[in-house]
Amino acid sequence: MMGELPPEQNTLFYDFCLEQHIPNNHLLRKINQFLDFSEIRKYLHCYYSHTGRPSIDPELMIRMLLIGYCYGIRSERRLCEEITFNLAYRCFCRLGLEDAVPDHSTFSKNRHGRFRESDLLRLVFDTVVTRCIEEGLVKGEGFAIDASFIRADVSRQTYEHSPVDWTPSKIQSRPVKEYLDKLDQVDSLNRVQKSVSLTDPMAQWTGAKGPANFFYSTNYLIDIDNNVIMDVEASPSTHALEVATTRTMVERVEANYGIVPRKLMGDTAYGAAANLGFLVEEKQIEPHVPVWEKSIRRDGTFSSSDFHWDEANDEYQCPADKKVRRHNRNYKIPRSGITKANTIIYHAKKADCDHCPLKAQCCPNTPSRKITRSVHEKARDLARAIVETDEYQNRSVKERKKVEMMFAHMKRHLGFDRLRLRGIDSANDEFLLVATAQNLRRLATLCAQPPPQPG
Ligand code: SF4
Repeated sequence: MMGELPPEQNTLFYDFCLEQHIPNNHLLRKINQFLDFSEIRKYLHCYYSHTGRPSIDPELMIRMLLIGYCYGIRSERRLCEEITFNLAYRCFCRLGLEDAVPDHSTFSKNRHGRFRESDLLRLVFDTVVTRCIEEGLVKGEGFAIDASFIRADVSRQTYEHSPVDWTPSKIQSRPVKEYLDKLDQVDSLNRVQKSVSLTDPMAQWTGAKGPANFFYSTNYLIDIDNNVIMDVEASPSTHALEVATTRTMVERVEANYGIVPRKLMGDTAYGAAANLGFLVEEKQIEPHVPVWEKSIRRDGTFSSSDFHWDEANDEYQCPADKKVRRHNRNYKIPRSGITKANTIIYHAKKADCDHCPLKAQCCPNTPSRKITRSVHEKARDLARAIVETDEYQNRSVKERKKVEMMFAHMKRHLGFDRLRLRGIDSANDEFLLVATAQNLRRLATLCAQPPPQPG
């Protein structure tokens, strides 16, 4: 017999428990076990006035944002609608069937006002990492680092070639004001840009990964034991600024959790001399990173690796057994010989090179040979030696890829391949939220307990 829907709902009173209608293995139910807002409430207390109308509960705001980033809901308006209609979302937000969901404009105002000032999203991220450590998911033995491009929320047509004349009419928007302030505060962000977006000038124009567009980079530092994201930082998409986040993240993890890994894995970009110097000389971390070599010659002439380094005498020995020294004469005022690029230049004597039978293979176009040595050469030598070890060849090369898997997960499963907000501070907020969502999913998968059975 064909069933038939009753014409309308006549029941006036319902006995309805929201939680009983959410499956035990629902992702949000599992994630809920690992959220603790007690510290966050204490921290936020000073940001709220004691008089006036009560604001939206910050816990509700964070729970709503986590749903958005766990399920790839881009629009704030749609997020508010989804929470209104979806029982699991309501239950996760601790809203009853008849409780009102915040209006999307109120939600937006809170998110971009008070929340940004308080650096709340960093605190939420730190709280979740601390929980991962308490659950034993972090070994602290090996970390991997990498960066991934995320498209900025701008049109690729709205740009000007550098240098841009920032007339008052162009600096009306928040991202532009923020950009100009940041340039004054952080010197390293002053970089040469061929094309500058007029809507989000901090984004970097690049064609390095397919069609050229404006991008930010999300930089991850992960513990390779269980792929827990230990830190995340936004940067414009340039090699130098991505690599500079190594110091920021390693030092922040040490300050927050007291963890310094034994080894750090990364690709060749992280093998820049200054970065290796920081890892080896300042932090005593083994760099499982290929060295960024710029001194290899491909025209058949001798590379600097063909010269033998004599540590005791601070000099090289060339293939013709002559000395290549820092100084070939004595100066009245001693000179360090260190250049602005943190290198030391060693010179062969012109008299030696003039009559050398190997000159055509060594310095055919210059009167004598020069060798450039980084002040961090010992760290570079250590990295070169590590690259030859079995541990690097058999383990580190594979383990390094785990951070790329986290980016693939972020883009494919969480649908996060384009920013929703503009400016580097907003990019940071979004990257923190995505990383928090990824860590919570990891906790839910590896540590969630089934809820207690009734009765
Ligand atoms: S050209 Fe000069 S530096 Fe090069 S091998 Fe001959 S002597 Fe040595």
